Amino acid sequence: MASENQQLHFILVPLMSSSHIIPLTDFAKLLARQGQDVTIITTPLNAIRLNPIIQRAIKSNLKVQLIPLRFPCQEAGLPEGCENLDELTSPDLTKHFFVASGMLQEPLEKVLAKLVPRPTCIVSTNAIPWTHEIAQKFGIPMYVFHTISCFTLVCSHSINHSKILETVNSDYESVLLPDMPHKIEFKNSQLPDMMRKNSSESKNMLDKVKEAENSAQGVVVNSFEELEPSYVEKCKNMMKNVWCIGPVSQCNKEMLDKFERGNKASIDENDCLKWLDSVKPKSVIYACFGSVSHISPTQSIEIGLGLEASNRPFIWIISDRDYSIEVKKWLEDDTFEERIKGRGLIIRGWAPQVLILSHSSIGGFLTHCGWNSTLEAVCAGVPMITWPMFAEQFYNEKFVVHVLRIGVRIGVEGVLESGEDAHDRVLVKGEQVKKAIDQLMDEGEEGEERRKRAREVGDMAKGTTEAGGSSYSNTKLLIQDVIKWRMHQ
Ligand code: UDP
Repeated sequence: MASENQQLHFILVPLMSSSHIIPLTDFAKLLARQGQDVTIITTPLNAIRLNPIIQRAIKSNLKVQLIPLRFPCQEAGLPEGCENLDELTSPDLTKHFFVASGMLQEPLEKVLAKLVPRPTCIVSTNAIPWTHEIAQKFGIPMYVFHTISCFTLVCSHSINHSKILETVNSDYESVLLPDMPHKIEFKNSQLPDMMRKNSSESKNMLDKVKEAENSAQGVVVNSFEELEPSYVEKCKNMMKNVWCIGPVSQCNKEMLDKFERGNKASIDENDCLKWLDSVKPKSVIYACFGSVSHISPTQSIEIGLGLEASNRPFIWIISDRDYSIEVKKWLEDDTFEERIKGRGLIIRGWAPQVLILSHSSIGGFLTHCGWNSTLEAVCAGVPMITWPMFAEQFYNEKFVVHVLRIGVRIGVEGVLESGEDAHDRVLVKGEQVKKAIDQLMDEGEEGEERRKRAREVGDMAKGTTEAGGSSYSNTKLLIQDVIKWRMHQ
């Protein structure tokens, strides 16, 4: 436990999106296990999702608490109850969501002014640029928590600084990134919207994020040093005080913590485990596309047909967003569910992803390459079929397929444009899904080598967040940095 002068109070502020809230909540537990007080700022509806995990953490004597702030939906032009990015009914509302998020600054300042013990530092995820103003007002340091890898940070830095994309004539021409530890090529079409579209709006947002990052006392990355040593090194040269503290999902040791992580699971725990236990080890394809992707009905049906044609056991997550009337009707009218009976499990809604991925029956993960999902598969030693869709997901695909060499590509070439029918314009057919599954599950030399490497990176991840592990030590360094900062005030 921390001695009194080392007793700190961390304020964690995530963007209200599952891919930020979930890892920051895990990190809260890791900090609390090192004896620190931790407060997570949230909103009433997100607090309902997090509460079971937090209550269990409190019962095990961790000093963690949630403070819900009212999310100003109405004022920002959002439908009532739209407190998480996964609740957005249209991409046009994203702008409003960020406006609402910015409006939390004032209420948060009021809460912090009265908080006991007094806050000693703020850790906020990369999409919350305004916390550095709060930190300045309170005279405490602010740290940025990156929900992306060092590889992604280095690639974006290289693309921005070399201005390499200015030399290309088409969206689909590949460019080689200069000065990288591996041969890394990108196409303009694969870059996040923010980087491709030179709109003043995205420039403004990027500038604010950059300004916050520059004024931060340090940067915390949900990754681990053994996974990407040369990119961690490069990050350390690019920024001051970089600490890899992950994979944070490893803090979930108990079955219930894995099961209830992030949201209420849409399957009974025992049914899920019974199904997983009933299939052969390393045989199941797990297909899940994160917390915010929208998969069109036509695309969903092709995914279903591909999984069916693969002739292998599978778990297919159809999120509430994608469980449309068309998909429901297809599942009911077609004989799909009958045909896959006993072999395929469909979860409609939220999946207990970490629990599923860490089960010995999982043989491959069909993923949209969100960084959290990627890292969770890495921890489980599960090879991936990569199907990036937007944001930094193409960087993650590159990392999985070309650097770690534990994945096969489904073969998409560019970020999805916005709009309901985005998938239909670049439809991945069922045969393509089947082909990628066959390739991943191939029992020949290539497949075996890939599985071996996946097991090896999984082994590397083990213990990193436990006493003696690199991420545990880095979390300690972060704590010491706050203590040092306080002593010099
Ligand atoms: N997740 C989950 N169940 C689901 C969907 C997502 O537990 O049904 C979790 C997943 O384990 C990960 C997070 O939600 O921790 C998604 O983050 P990621 O960065 O992979 O993707 P994003 O949601 O940002 O697209």
